[in-house]
Amino acid sequence: MSDNALTSIKDVTVKVLDGKLVSKHLRNQIRAQVAEFKEQGKRSPGLAVIIVGDDPASQVYVRHKIKACKEVGIESFEYQAPATLTKEDLKKKIEEFNQNEAIDGILVQLPLPEHLSSDEVLTWVDPMKDADCLTAENLGLLWAGRPRTKPCTPSGVMEILKYYEIPIQGARAAVVGRSEIVGKPMGLMLLQGDATVTMCHSKTLNMRQILLESDVVVVAAGRPLLLGREDFKKDSVVIDVGIHRDQGKLCGDVRFDELEGQVAAATPVPGGVGPMTITMLLSNTLDLYRLHSN
Ligand code: NAD
Repeated sequence: MSDNALTSIKDVTVKVLDGKLVSKHLRNQIRAQVAEFKEQGKRSPGLAVIIVGDDPASQVYVRHKIKACKEVGIESFEYQAPATLTKEDLKKKIEEFNQNEAIDGILVQLPLPEHLSSDEVLTWVDPMKDADCLTAENLGLLWAGRPRTKPCTPSGVMEILKYYEIPIQGARAAVVGRSEIVGKPMGLMLLQGDATVTMCHSKTLNMRQILLESDVVVVAAGRPLLLGREDFKKDSVVIDVGIHRDQGKLCGDVRFDELEGQVAAATPVPGGVGPMTITMLLSNTLDLYRLHSN
């Protein structure tokens, strides 16, 4: 058992599950793998990032994604378009990226402007280049237990659990939230890790009762500071996916400050799940590169 493993944590303090640390560890591995491919004379993996409009949060996310690519040796191809971009022109651009052999992954930054339906736009992305695992084909493969890529945020959560050797097999796990990009695939991945999973959502009755019976709780409700000490079982593990900005300060869906002495371990906000999402995008891009290089 490594130093990371969660062992004698009972009645001590809450162990902070450090997403920045796990992310650094994984990015080092990705960087080393990319360097190895290049030493073998192969091309760099490539990720295309498409951003339409000037949503400030999306601009920040895209900048972080491009910077992260650079740091591990993945080549990025950015396409910035004004919010007035037509459906036809966006489709043409995606088709161009689908054909470009230097590009392994394509990411369409969401949300899109109102006149562009993300459901429709995602059908234009070649599933072999779906770096976010948002196409129906790749979600189907994930469902069938044969993933090509994995949804970034829930796979980031799984990597945190793995790094800290938190036992999932046989555990009772609860997921709060059932969105397509976080909650649903999160429940599936925990199930595939042999947990017994309960999905909670805004219509769930007696949610606290369910959470109090759960060894691992992943919270992705998108409600600032929704849950606290009284919602979690003693010595459970709490993963907070939520991100909110409150008067310039970031917080999650969980009142982290209350957890000490109650739960065994928890992710903080910021510095928990957040850094993992981009890391898993890099990991998906590398997985697609391997498929294209074979
Ligand atoms: P969403 O709004 O699409 O879904 C929220 C889900 O929570 C819904 O299924 C809803 O039924 C459920 N819910 C809402 N209120 C509830 C309540 N009181 N009790 C139980 N369930 C409730 O949100 P999302 O896209 O899944 O994102 C969730 C949160 O995670 C947001 O804060 C978002 O910003 C954050 N997020 C973070 C990352 C990251 O990289 N860390 C990535 C994606 C999303």
